[in-house]
Amino acid sequence: MGDNTITVSMIIVVANDDASKNSGELGKQLWESNNGKYEFVTTINGEEKHFDVIFKITLVTEIPENRNVLGGVNTFDVRDDNDRSIFDSRRDPAGTRTGVSYYNHTTGFQEAHVKKSSSNSRSTVGHEIGHLFGLDHRATGLMADDKSKVTSNLNITAGLVNSIINNASPGGLPETQNCKSFSSPNMQSGQVREKE
Ligand SMILES: [Zn+2]
Repeated sequence: MGDNTITVSMIIVVANDDASKNSGELGKQLWESNNGKYEFVTTINGEEKHFDVIFKITLVTEIPENRNVLGGVNTFDVRDDNDRSIFDSRRDPAGTRTGVSYYNHTTGFQEAHVKKSSSNSRSTVGHEIGHLFGLDHRATGLMADDKSKVTSNLNITAGLVNSIINNASPGGLPETQNCKSFSSPNMQSGQVREKE
C-alpha cells in the first residue's frame, strides 16, 4: 500500500448531447480504469514516499461558475465527420484525423473534438483526453500522432502517467490532492511505476 494518494483531477465541460456525453463517459472510464495500477515514488525529507495514482475525471455539461477551479476546465464534444469548422485544412490537412485537441486562446479552454464516426473509439477518445491532461504525442501507443502508428497496446503506460504528474504544477491543470507537502520540486524528482 502507498503512504498516500495523488489524485490527478480534471473537469471536462461536455456538450449537452447524447453522442458527446456517451463519448466523454467512454474516455473517463478508460482513464479511471487505471486507478490503483500505478504509484508515484518520490523522496520527501530524505524519506521514500509512495503515492497511489488516482485519476478523477468529472464530466459536467455547464461551465462551472468558477471556471478556474483546479486551474481551469476543458471542453469536449462530438462533431459531424464533415465539420470543417474544427477539422479544417490546418488541423486536419489530409482529412483523415478522427479527433483534434488544441488550446483556444479566445475562450481559454483546452478543447477536444472527435468525429462522430470515432466517438465510440477508445483509442480516439482516450487520445484526445490524454491531450487534455497535457500530453504530447509519442512515437507509438495511445498518444501516437497518426492513427496508423497507434499500436494495439492502448494501455495508459507508466511513462504517460509520469509525464502528466511531472508536468503538473500547483494551480496547473491536474490537481494534486491529499499531498499537502507535495511541491513541484518533489514531483520533478519522482517516478511513476506499475504497482506490484
Ligand atoms: Zn493528438
